[in-house]
Amino acid sequence: MTLQDVLDDIRKRPGTGDVIPIIDPVTEEQLTEFTDCGAAGVDEAVARAKAAFEAEVWSGLPGAERAKVMWRIADLIDEHAAEFAEIDSANTGMMKMQSELVVPTCAEFFRYYAGWCTKINGTAYDVRSTGIAGAGYVDHHAYTLKEPYGVVGLIFPWNGPIFNACAKIAPALAAGCSSLVKPAEETPLSALLLDRLIHEAGVPDGVVNLITGYGHTAGAAISAHPDVEKVAFTGSTEVGKMIVQASTGNLKKVMLELGGKSPVLIFDDADLDKAIFGAAMGIFVHSGQGCVCGSRIFVQRGVYDQVVEGIAGVANFMKYGGPTEEGVMSGPLISAKQLSRVLGYIDEGKRDGVEVVTGGFRLDRKGYFVHPTVLTNVDPATSRLYKEEIFGPVVSIIPFDDEDEAVAMANDTTYGLAATAWTTNVTRAHRIVKRLQAGSVQINCQLVFDHDVPFGGYKQSGWGHEFGKDGLDAYLKQKTVWAQL
Ligand code: NAP
Ligand code: MG
Repeated sequence: MTLQDVLDDIRKRPGTGDVIPIIDPVTEEQLTEFTDCGAAGVDEAVARAKAAFEAEVWSGLPGAERAKVMWRIADLIDEHAAEFAEIDSANTGMMKMQSELVVPTCAEFFRYYAGWCTKINGTAYDVRSTGIAGAGYVDHHAYTLKEPYGVVGLIFPWNGPIFNACAKIAPALAAGCSSLVKPAEETPLSALLLDRLIHEAGVPDGVVNLITGYGHTAGAAISAHPDVEKVAFTGSTEVGKMIVQASTGNLKKVMLELGGKSPVLIFDDADLDKAIFGAAMGIFVHSGQGCVCGSRIFVQRGVYDQVVEGIAGVANFMKYGGPTEEGVMSGPLISAKQLSRVLGYIDEGKRDGVEVVTGGFRLDRKGYFVHPTVLTNVDPATSRLYKEEIFGPVVSIIPFDDEDEAVAMANDTTYGLAATAWTTNVTRAHRIVKRLQAGSVQINCQLVFDHDVPFGGYKQSGWGHEFGKDGLDAYLKQKTVWAQL
C-alpha cells in the first residue's frame, strides 16, 4: 500500500460525523480527509469485537497458533517497511531516517509478544487450609488461570503513529483480546496499512478493529462503552483523567501512559561531553514530542555555564526540516495547534522575565517548526513553563548546589515518568535512583527502550506498565480456582 493508497482509502472509511482534514506539518497543506466514525462507528466495532471474542475465533486458538500469525504480521511489517516509513514521515514530518529506524522495532513487538503466547500460565499452590473454623485441616489444591480481558480499547497519540499502534496491538493479540484501535486523528494513516497486514497475516475478522475519528467523539465512546473491559491509553494526563471518569460506568480497567516533565540531573563529576549531547538530544530530538523528553535540566553550579553554553550550541547546530531534506536532525511539530501552544508557553516565559539563551521563535519557513529553545532564569515556584508539559523543543536549565537540592527540585512536579542522572560517581548514581520519584530512571543515558523492559509512570504520569511481561499481563485477568481434595 503506497502513501497514495492510504490517502485514498481513508476517504472511503464509513462515518457520519465531521470531516477531519489531515495536514502535512511540513508544507501545511492538506494531504487527505476522512469522516469521523463517531459513537455509532464505535458501537458497531464493539459489537464485532465482542462477537469475535465470544466465538473464541482468536482467544480459543492454541498459543502456538496465535504466535505463528503474529510472526507473520512481523514479517509483513518488515516487507512493507519502506511504505510504513514513507507514510509516517509524510503524516508527521519526522525524518525519513527516524521513521525507517522505527519500523523494525514495530515488527519486533509482534515477535517479542509472539514468544509470550505459549507462556501464559497461572500459578499452582499446594494449600493446607484450616477451612471452616474448627473443622480441622482440609487439603486443597489451588491455582490461578490467566484469561484475556475481552474487548479492549487502545487509544494513542500522534508522536509515534506506527510505534504506538504496535506497542499496544501486539500484547493485546498475544493475550487473546479483541481490540478497538484508535490512533490520533492527526495520524491515522499508517494504522490503515497495519490493519490490512494484520488481517492478511490471518487474524480473524472482528479481532482487531480500526477506529478513525476524534478523541472527544470516538475515543470518548470507547472509554464509556459498557462492553469494553479495559482501555489502554497513551496521551496527555488531562485526557487520561477524562478516560478514568468515563470508565466508571462499568468500572472498566484502565492503563495509562501519560505526560511528563522529566528532570535531568547533571553533576559536576559527569562526563560533560556525553551529558551535554545526551541531554540536548533528550529534549530536541523529534522536536521534543516525546513523553520521556527531559524538559527540566538541573546542573551543578560549578559546571552550569559550561553546560548551558554546550546545550545551546547543540540547539544552534541542529537543523530542523522536512523528512528528506539534507542534514536534518529533527522534524516539525505535528500541528498548527501544537505550534501555537509551544510558542504560547515561550511568550509567557518571556513576559515573566525568563532569559532566552537561544531559540524561542518559529522558523522562517513553511511548516510548524520551532527553533530548539534553551531557557534560563525560570522561576520554579511560578512558571508554567517549568511545571507543565510543553511537548516541544523547549528546555529550562536550572542550577543546583548539592544532591539534596537537585533531588528535591527534580521531584517537585506532579509528573513522574522519567528521570536521568549524569554522573561518574557510581555510589551517588545508585543512591539517587532510589530518591527520584519516576517510573524510569536512566543513569548516563536517555531515551532508551527495549521490548522486554517494563515502562510506566509514577504520580500523574500513569497507571500500570507497558512492554515486557508486565505489558502482557495488562491484557490478562486472573482467576483463582480452588479444589478440595
Ligand atoms: P491527547 O490529546 O491526550 O490524545 C491522545 C489520544 O487520546 C488521541 O488518540 C486522542 O484522539 C484521544 N483522545 C482525546 N480526547 C479523548 C477523550 N475525551 N476520550 C478518549 N480519547 C481521547 O494527547 P496528544 O496531544 O495527542 O499527545 C501528546 C500527549 O501524549 C503528551 O502529553 C505526551 O506526554 C503524551 N504521551 C505519552 C506517552 C507515554 O508513553 N507516557 C507517549 C507519547 C505521548 P484525537 O487526537 O483524535 O483527539
Ligand atoms: Mg489529537
